[in-house]
Amino acid sequence: ARGEDKKKDTNNITVVVRVRPPIRHEIDKGDYQSVVRIGDDNRTITICENPKALASGDPAELSLFLTHNYTFDYVYGPKSTQSDVYSNTARQAVQSTLEGYNATVLAYGQTSSGKTFTMEGYQGEKRGIIPRSVEEVFQFIESSSEKRRKFLVRASYLQIYKEIVSDLLKPERTSLHIRYDKTKGTFVEGLSEWVVRSPQEVYSLIEKGVSTRATGSTWKNPDSSRSHAVFMLICEQSEIISQEADDGTIKETEVFKIGKLNLVDLAGSERVKETGVSGERSQETKYINLSLFTLCFVITQLVEGNGNHVSYRDSKLTRLLEDSLGGNCKTYFMAMVSPAMINYQETLGTLKYANNAK
Ligand code: ADP
Ligand code: MG
Repeated sequence: ARGEDKKKDTNNITVVVRVRPPIRHEIDKGDYQSVVRIGDDNRTITICENPKALASGDPAELSLFLTHNYTFDYVYGPKSTQSDVYSNTARQAVQSTLEGYNATVLAYGQTSSGKTFTMEGYQGEKRGIIPRSVEEVFQFIESSSEKRRKFLVRASYLQIYKEIVSDLLKPERTSLHIRYDKTKGTFVEGLSEWVVRSPQEVYSLIEKGVSTRATGSTWKNPDSSRSHAVFMLICEQSEIISQEADDGTIKETEVFKIGKLNLVDLAGSERVKETGVSGERSQETKYINLSLFTLCFVITQLVEGNGNHVSYRDSKLTRLLEDSLGGNCKTYFMAMVSPAMINYQETLGTLKYANNAK
């Protein structure tokens, strides 16, 4: 942990873990026990292959089994709420977008670890980061209505599957190219952008994207757990500022701010066994591994921050996020895990990955 907090200030990358509650099939005939334990400070997490030893908390007993300890910026337990996760973690990304910076929130983890629950969620108190972020943006706009500020909010929603970028809101647009422009930054050529005036308008776009992702229309759609989904919100503001010049006259200048928020539901990180897997499946796995590996590598390069080359170009996802990771951009990496024994190996893999990213 030495020097870590100092590091955090300079690189703007926050890594958190969320342990979801066990789901029905993981609760094994009443004697369910968690393979992870969260420290009282909500920063450390211990994973042990023997849940009974872990529950006992007895160091002598624990030492008989494989045990790993990790420290993160925060560890959310199974009782944490959607509101906790939003206000302690994602909210700062939204705020920095409103200040004119780009920001990224990523949900990583094996299939069924809680990525979509955390990013999208359900209605009411169970709504996730995407709807809460949208609400925050519109609340901000409303609260600024007295001032001489104008806002333009645009949303896009895309999918990356086998390194192919497709528009989830205009499904006929696929195989899109990622470009860079001095004024626009990184953008996807031909990706539809929807001007939105209320949270309701954004929700209907999300619904549309989610159904495209689930059913596909013109392109053959993969199992949604095999693709990355990126929801983008671009917030533009202009404000007239009056300043008194040296000669006593009042000068009015228009100030622009633009920030892009990327909310990413990553493809399932599970290691699919190659044996008995069809060509299609193993190809999918190859692409997922490539992009998740590149993502980790890029984050590590940014954390080390020694001004060296950063490998954004090695995958579509990191290319897309090139202007939204590192520098002034806030990045929140959220590792999702299951507490159950049957997912022990994947949970350990996820914690190791997240540990490398910090
Ligand atoms: P993923 O998107 O990673 O594949 P999901 O978000 O679909 O996983 O979660 C799998 C299941 O677990 C879903 O039924 C979801 O509602 C439930 N779930 C996930 N996280 C939580 C949580 N924090 N609290 C309650 N239920 C959760
Ligand atoms: Mg999902």
